[in-house]
Amino acid sequence: IFPGSVDAAGQRATLGVLGGGQLGRMFVHAAQRLGYFTAVLEPDAQSPAGLVSHHHIQTSYDDPAGLAELAQLCQAITTEFENVPAQTLQTLAQTRPVAPGAAVVGIAQNRIEEKAHFTACADVSGVTCAPYAVIETDAQLQGVQRNRADLLPGILKTARMGYDGKGQVRVKTADELATAWTELGGVACVLEKMLPLTAECSVLVARGWDGQVVSFAPQRNVHVEGILAVTHAYEGNMPSALADRARDAAVAIAQHLNYVGVLCVEFFVVDDGTEHGGLVVNEMAPRPHNSGHYTIDACDASQFDLQVYAMAGLPLPQPRQHSPAIMLNLLGDVWFDASGQLQEPNWRSVLSLPGTHLHLYGKLQARPGRKMGHLTITGPDVASITTVARRAADLLG
Ligand code: ADP
Ligand code: MG
Repeated sequence: IFPGSVDAAGQRATLGVLGGGQLGRMFVHAAQRLGYFTAVLEPDAQSPAGLVSHHHIQTSYDDPAGLAELAQLCQAITTEFENVPAQTLQTLAQTRPVAPGAAVVGIAQNRIEEKAHFTACADVSGVTCAPYAVIETDAQLQGVQRNRADLLPGILKTARMGYDGKGQVRVKTADELATAWTELGGVACVLEKMLPLTAECSVLVARGWDGQVVSFAPQRNVHVEGILAVTHAYEGNMPSALADRARDAAVAIAQHLNYVGVLCVEFFVVDDGTEHGGLVVNEMAPRPHNSGHYTIDACDASQFDLQVYAMAGLPLPQPRQHSPAIMLNLLGDVWFDASGQLQEPNWRSVLSLPGTHLHLYGKLQARPGRKMGHLTITGPDVASITTVARRAADLLG
């Protein structure tokens, strides 16, 4: 599907995305820059992506008429929302190329299947996930309480719908585990051993329909209260031996899934007594990822460009990072002063710092914890971007 092309019926080459959040918005921007028309399917009237797309189909993700309209408008379809119903992707795939596909999105939606996949390809990826047990029934809960003391202290995570640390409870004892499972509604969960993390990192991989794979160097991520706060993207952000292993593992995981599109694989670095520490795979996102936003300003092809190239069947460029970068997430908290009053951040001061690139997602209402935008800092070297990032963080409180 070439950008700018028009078919016999006069219809322009159009790419579709399920979901209207900030990831959809940045996807739409990338697609439009290449000359594509875009369509967003999203129930919310004021969504970040819907506001900037040529077409906005305002229906739920499983509305047959909405899906039919999306398929009619678009030559290829992707998703920015990983909890889109699998049936939706299957329905669309009957008439249009859909990347990533229903099967892989289904695996990434469910921690139980996700961990089974990581375990199944551990031989080729060279990494395993944290020790864990599945808890779906009372009998399994009791079994874990009796036999898996090795998993405590641990984190109980719902198998589905968890994000930004939601749907997780930290537990120290077998009794706390039972309480936590009830608290989470007795739904399917995994209990994961709490690991001594020394760092976290993620790798973005893009894979085409023909199996071509390109990837970005691993970025180091700092989370605060389960939400990504800062991404460090530059050479030396982690020992190169670890970075190489993480990159190879992410590529192997994408290949083993026969994945098409952009995949983000998240890793833990754990203190295992070795020089660089051990690498443990945590989870994967079947889409561009918050930790890859720096690629817009610091690389010659962004994660969103690669999503466009991959779904449209264009050759994938191996992205080159031309500048070291630090990304700061801008949560809604930044819009409130110390006394809890709503106050516009001091953009004048922030933007007067060298190498700052502000991205706001067009969300009308700031709420604590809500992702409102991000700030990428680029510069000639790591020392200078580190200084600017500190100043920007101070200004943003
Ligand atoms: P989410 O889907 O919310 O991103 P994660 O499984 O990535 O869920 O957990 C969120 C954060 O919690 C991680 O980035 C990490 O900081 C911490 N965390 C999760 N699992 C573990 C673990 N097994 N040991 C230590 N820290 C963990
Ligand atoms: Mg995570």
